[in-house]
Amino acid sequence: MNSSLLPIRENIISVRQKLRGACLRAGRSPEDIELVAVTKRVPAHVIKEALAAGVTTLGENRVQELIKKQEVLGTGPQWHLIGHLQTNKVKYIVGRVSLIHSLDSINLAAEINKLWLEREMQCNVLIQVNISGENSKYGLPAGEVCDFIKEVALMPSIRVRGLMTIAPFEEDPERTRPVFSELRLLSEKLSIKFPEVKLQYLSMGMTNDYTVAVEEGANIIRVGTALFGARIY
Ligand SMILES: *Cc1c(COP(=O)(O)O)cnc(C)c1O
Repeated sequence: MNSSLLPIRENIISVRQKLRGACLRAGRSPEDIELVAVTKRVPAHVIKEALAAGVTTLGENRVQELIKKQEVLGTGPQWHLIGHLQTNKVKYIVGRVSLIHSLDSINLAAEINKLWLEREMQCNVLIQVNISGENSKYGLPAGEVCDFIKEVALMPSIRVRGLMTIAPFEEDPERTRPVFSELRLLSEKLSIKFPEVKLQYLSMGMTNDYTVAVEEGANIIRVGTALFGARIY
């Protein structure tokens, strides 16, 4: 990608405008929605442009990439791990991330708990839920989240802050709406069941579908392509 031609600032303005539109339609306030700039595959010098243009939170989906970029960009920005996390990689990110979006197994929770406990810290996590049921997606089936929360509640260094999902890609983003409304309903149900857990965040919506997600209650959106252009693999 030719970064010097990327109008990052314009892209941010455009995403924020669409976000405002979705908020207006839903009777919500744009300040209540956190934009996570997804920077996987985006080089550090391009990310700097985004930070200069007002982005405050960066989302990476791979541990090694996150660490490399954090060495260059520092801990001024908030760093979120948004992708699948292998248990054996948790040790590399202790103290480096403010939110993990992708908690999806008890083994992973136990490892996070152990390592954060050693530092007498708490780790903020979202539970990833596979609402659509696609085989290709990580995340717990919706029906297992309740028992999962019960078990994780016994781990003192894990702080469950909410739920996350990835909707299937749809040409027409309107078709993702049921996935997002289902995650919101699940969160509402669980909040009644576990008032002490404070399920505050719904991380849902990406470039293709974030406006629909916001209409359905997302308060964290994870946007890459709309800010940085198509990723080159
Ligand atoms: C890549 C990625 C995104 C951003 O996707 P875009 O379509 O580029 O906005 C969001 N969430 C997760 C978990 C991702 O891996």
